[in-house]
Amino acid sequence: MNDMIPPGNVPSDLVAEWQTLHRVFIRPEDEKSRQTLIKYMEQILFGLHEFLNSHVGVTEAIPLATLARSYTDTTIHREPEKKLADVIKDIINQIAPRAVNVASPYFIGHMTSAIPFFMVHLKAITAALNQNLIKLETSKVLSVLEKQVLAKIHRMIYNREQAFYDGHVQNADTCLGLFTNGGTTANITALWVARNRCLPATGNFAGVEQDGMASAMKAHDLERLVVLVSERGHYSLKKAGGILGIGNKNVIPVRVTPHHRIDMTELTRQVEAFAQNTTIRVAAIVGIAGATETGTIDPLPDMARLCQTHGIHFHVDAAWGGPVMLSDKYAGLLEGIKQADSVTIDCHKQFYMPMSAGMVYFKDPTALDRIIYHAGYVNRKGSVDLGIKTLEGSREASSLILDSALKIMGSRGYALMIEHGIDTARLFAEKIRERDRFQLVTEPVLNILTYRAIPGELKPQMDQAVTPARRRAIDACLDRINIDLQRIQREAGKSFVSRTCLKLHPDDAHTAVVLRSVIMNPYTDGRILDQILDEQEIILQSPEISKHLVSLS
Ligand SMILES: *Cc1c(COP(=O)(O)O)cnc(C)c1O
Repeated sequence: MNDMIPPGNVPSDLVAEWQTLHRVFIRPEDEKSRQTLIKYMEQILFGLHEFLNSHVGVTEAIPLATLARSYTDTTIHREPEKKLADVIKDIINQIAPRAVNVASPYFIGHMTSAIPFFMVHLKAITAALNQNLIKLETSKVLSVLEKQVLAKIHRMIYNREQAFYDGHVQNADTCLGLFTNGGTTANITALWVARNRCLPATGNFAGVEQDGMASAMKAHDLERLVVLVSERGHYSLKKAGGILGIGNKNVIPVRVTPHHRIDMTELTRQVEAFAQNTTIRVAAIVGIAGATETGTIDPLPDMARLCQTHGIHFHVDAAWGGPVMLSDKYAGLLEGIKQADSVTIDCHKQFYMPMSAGMVYFKDPTALDRIIYHAGYVNRKGSVDLGIKTLEGSREASSLILDSALKIMGSRGYALMIEHGIDTARLFAEKIRERDRFQLVTEPVLNILTYRAIPGELKPQMDQAVTPARRRAIDACLDRINIDLQRIQREAGKSFVSRTCLKLHPDDAHTAVVLRSVIMNPYTDGRILDQILDEQEIILQSPEISKHLVSLS
């Protein structure tokens, strides 16, 4: 592989010129470009892989700082620098190998993974059609197709009666859900609706959307609005708190049980305490169905009951776990989700769609009326355009990709993927348990687990550590070891697990560094997982790790 990094500013004799520009709107600029496009499209569609497979691992072992030095050209060149054919060649040869091969079965660190090859076709089609779902005038059939697929997923979650779906699937006045850019905007949308529901018009006050938070708090005699979610909540909920004027510190982390599920005793205590105080209102309680760090699922039925009792909006963040509902074997894990007022599900996670698309669903098909917007030139009052109820403005036809994928895969196809992920994660947990140098930290409820490495030399020291100071020293040493282990493995580029920080037990003072694995690639199997652990054991013997042990003794 060519290790030269492309120089930024290459002089060329190309000139920007109207005739050529004109042509590229309908076809490649010349025969050579056409051939290049076809050649690489073939690779992308049928191999992806010729160039990715030649790098079995995850990425080339070049430090980011070295790469950064080649990307310092801050000028836009007046004349074209390169022809399309050369730009594509550069991407294939220079960018792809140094990007991250998230499709590698050795890449088990994040929620981004391999996608079925047909997704690239579908993505190309949406780009070629270039529909804008903000309004009917730029999407036509796509907007009714979108309503249909939204109803399919709504049905997967809520399973209402046939008449309900007949009445809403193409109802222009109601909305079962929305496509968004991802889980973050889906969560923001859900809490936006919850906030507005919580601060309705009264007297001269027109509602929080119109009059703003200051007036809303006055009109409702409130000092604080809060959102409750477990400590495992995704940080997008904090962002929502900030954006919506609730304040991110009022998105309150509730403690978890040793199984990393929200502690119902503590949640109930907090809700009842807030109920006593008329100046504080709970805008929403968020249950997690597949926590980002641990894959754990909150006790949704209990949370639903509590919300029901107190009239609180119940949102379920199933950005990760949502598609598990398609598996007969594991759907029971998400029991209670149908009682949620709103549900977030990401498309670019376990629906295996390309970046980036998410969805948010509402039990009440009129819930989204709380965030309707109109604009004279597009979404006129009384318009049925989907853009009137979305946070995003212009939006691609992600629904076309999901609708097609559901047809190609069937719910059973998705179920097989989900089941492979969960079963393989359970196998991985076994392998971790069997090895002396590792400690399983969280069991995989879904296809996510955490663990950490403990060098053999440290085990007796841990057992003998009686003073808190000695414990702290060992904890700190283990953290450094796991941080370096993860970094060294990542930089070597063959395989990848991520890391995060967790309290091993809710009462621990120490938040430990743990390794995190997410298994969703159908090619990740026991053999590969063994290789990843073997590599970690070898790294554990290296001087870079041993030095931490020396400093401890
Ligand atoms: C990934 C994730 C999000 C955020 O979704 P994005 O698509 O990254 O914006 C929110 N909640 C959970 C539980 C997630 O796993």
